[in-house]
Amino acid sequence: MAGKVFLVGAGPGDPELLTVKAYRLLESADVVLHDDLVPGGVLRLIPPTTLVRNVGKRCGTKSVSQQEINALLVAYASSGLQVVRLKSGDPLIFGRAGEEIEAVGQANIELEIVPGVTAALGAAAAAQVSLTHREKASAVLFLSGHTKASRKSDLPAHLSARTTLVIYMPGSDYAETSERLLAGGLPGQTACAIVSQVSSPNQRIHRTTIERLRLAPRLPTPTLLIVGEVAGSAVGSASVPERLEDPQTGFHKAERGLEVAESPERFLVQWAAGGGP
Ligand code: SAH
Repeated sequence: MAGKVFLVGAGPGDPELLTVKAYRLLESADVVLHDDLVPGGVLRLIPPTTLVRNVGKRCGTKSVSQQEINALLVAYASSGLQVVRLKSGDPLIFGRAGEEIEAVGQANIELEIVPGVTAALGAAAAAQVSLTHREKASAVLFLSGHTKASRKSDLPAHLSARTTLVIYMPGSDYAETSERLLAGGLPGQTACAIVSQVSSPNQRIHRTTIERLRLAPRLPTPTLLIVGEVAGSAVGSASVPERLEDPQTGFHKAERGLEVAESPERFLVQWAAGGGP
């Protein structure tokens, strides 16, 4: 059988968010080359007889260079093996897939791409944020907080309040991010949600606003930052009246009655097993 490379999305963490196709390929692959962010729960689905290699980066230092990864993909597939290149989330979002697609194509090796649930969509689901909204947001922008060239935020100069921003790799300098968002023209009261370790048992969500972003806790990585009016609406917002607070839970009931909000002072939600609100 001819070798083949599959670029496969592992989703944001929860193995149940794998596609059925990804699951089947993990069971049948000869070799799996994965990134650091691919969660242990997903890796445990791989049979023990499969060759599994972590080719991820650690703390910014590359354990295996991108060229070496490309060469490994080509070498394994050229020897007739079915190779899964497993990336967290979706392989085509901030995953350096372009370089691998090119290398595999140049070697005339068959390639198939299996999409995954990207962290932005996992985070939006976790925070119950509708990324688009008929009245509040007509566009969504996925951005990287740090570009390879500048190590600085790559936000566009002009931002629209009707575009929801999802910032991958937001870094920990929230003061700088806040300044850039304000400089881009967004109002200080615009809602933000920091979502940490999406779909893992340690998932946490911190809701705030652009003007208060610099005060936000540094939640454990990986984290994502959602910015936009929609980010505050799913579970109410800081403007939810005090009188609606449920005396038993301390959570605010939003005026429409369908949604439950935390008190603005208690924006930290821990969804650890049994620890959810
Ligand atoms: N291909 C991946 C993104 C890789 S870039 C995807 O589609 O999701 C790595 C960045 O993605 C992290 O710095 C973080 O911003 C985000 N990310 C990945 N997994 C995450 C998770 N489980 N929780 C929060 N953010 C995550």
